[in-house]
Amino acid sequence: MAQDANHSSQTLLLPCHECDLVSEVPPRHDGQWVHCPRCQHPLMRPADNDQLTPALAFTALLLLTLSLLFPYLGFEKNGIERAMTVTDAAYELAIYHHPALAVIVIATIIVIPALYLLSVCWIHMSLASPGRLPGSLFLARWLPRMQPWMMADVFAIAALVSLVKIIAMAHIQLLSAFWTFSGFALILLITVTRMNTIGLWQRLLGDLQQPPHTQAGKTAQSQGLIGCQWCGQLQPLEQPHRCHHCHSALHDRHPFSLQRVWALLVTAILCCFPAHLFPIMITTSLGKTEPSTIIAGVMLFLRHDDWPIALIIFTASVLVPFGKILALGWLCIAARRQQALDMTSQMKLYRLTEWIGRWSMIDVFVVAIIVALFQMGNILTVTPGVGGLAFSAVVIFTMLAAHQFDPRLIWDRQLQLQQYSKRRSAQRQPPTLEPEKQP
Ligand SMILES: [Zn+2]
Ligand SMILES: [Zn+2]
Repeated sequence: MAQDANHSSQTLLLPCHECDLVSEVPPRHDGQWVHCPRCQHPLMRPADNDQLTPALAFTALLLLTLSLLFPYLGFEKNGIERAMTVTDAAYELAIYHHPALAVIVIATIIVIPALYLLSVCWIHMSLASPGRLPGSLFLARWLPRMQPWMMADVFAIAALVSLVKIIAMAHIQLLSAFWTFSGFALILLITVTRMNTIGLWQRLLGDLQQPPHTQAGKTAQSQGLIGCQWCGQLQPLEQPHRCHHCHSALHDRHPFSLQRVWALLVTAILCCFPAHLFPIMITTSLGKTEPSTIIAGVMLFLRHDDWPIALIIFTASVLVPFGKILALGWLCIAARRQQALDMTSQMKLYRLTEWIGRWSMIDVFVVAIIVALFQMGNILTVTPGVGGLAFSAVVIFTMLAAHQFDPRLIWDRQLQLQQYSKRRSAQRQPPTLEPEKQP
């Protein structure tokens, strides 16, 4: 049943995906996000002018199409001119026997963003049409799952870093696709921030059904309820573990969350060795071959006094992946710790690890761009090294680990500790003496 864009006049009871607290969300139409009062996680963005979102998605798709048709960067060196398209960044990797890396690049900068934008347009067409269009529910289920894997903005920043890296070596030109792709990345970002998944599900399937006697200010679990992280529907725990509103799989807590995080972190740590020991790219110039590891790349920038770029590459490629592994390891320990913790800082750490992970792909994209540009035979040829694939694996495994971590486990632990200390202090209190009865 398609609903009007501003139909949500109902006061909602929504579970927080990060701390499990049920909160009351009053109807608002100012487009401002409503946050969880306990952990400040954004719960939902109330309806505003929703015509803008599909218009933005369509514009982004148009800009992406133009970016694929025209050249992206060009350069001239020793009288030789060359231009690359966005797809060349993946194509040249595939040519040099790195098909997996080529798939990662093309999927994260073109395929997944395009599917996301097409899905947004299709769902909004479905909402505007008298009957629901086929596949709109399936696409609505996949929208939030695609979101973390879209990296067009990271690629756009990587292009700027590449420019600084090669500006001294050749005369660089920013061609038409550079501007259209940057516009696409920006509008994609705005479209994503405007998406209101819970509101979208309400418009597709009607208002959420609130279970009777649900109370705000208590966790869903303590009321025998389970909250759907995608559509916000609360339902009794004993029901089959599929949301009866959007049909997504439901978990009271992510099954084996901590075990999965540890397994992914160990895999990421193992991938760190080839990522930093093997070259990320190999430069061949006039018969001389020079492999370059991530750290060697940072040192090269430092030698040329390009310390801002050295800092960006060092932060993205060394500090962030290692920091993320340490932070996730700490959060897993915190979920089992017998000590009261400052939950605000724990949640800030969790959100930072979740947000920052994809930015580590900068160095991989820089390599993809440089390899696509520098194919000048004997004069100068840059080829990708095995370190790039290993480094992408580090980024992907740490991102998967962050998604597998269930922050509600830390809140559960803190609640258990509070209840335990309350029981202990109640036991320590001396029994009160009853007043003597007067004869
Ligand atoms: Zn919360
Ligand atoms: Zn649901």
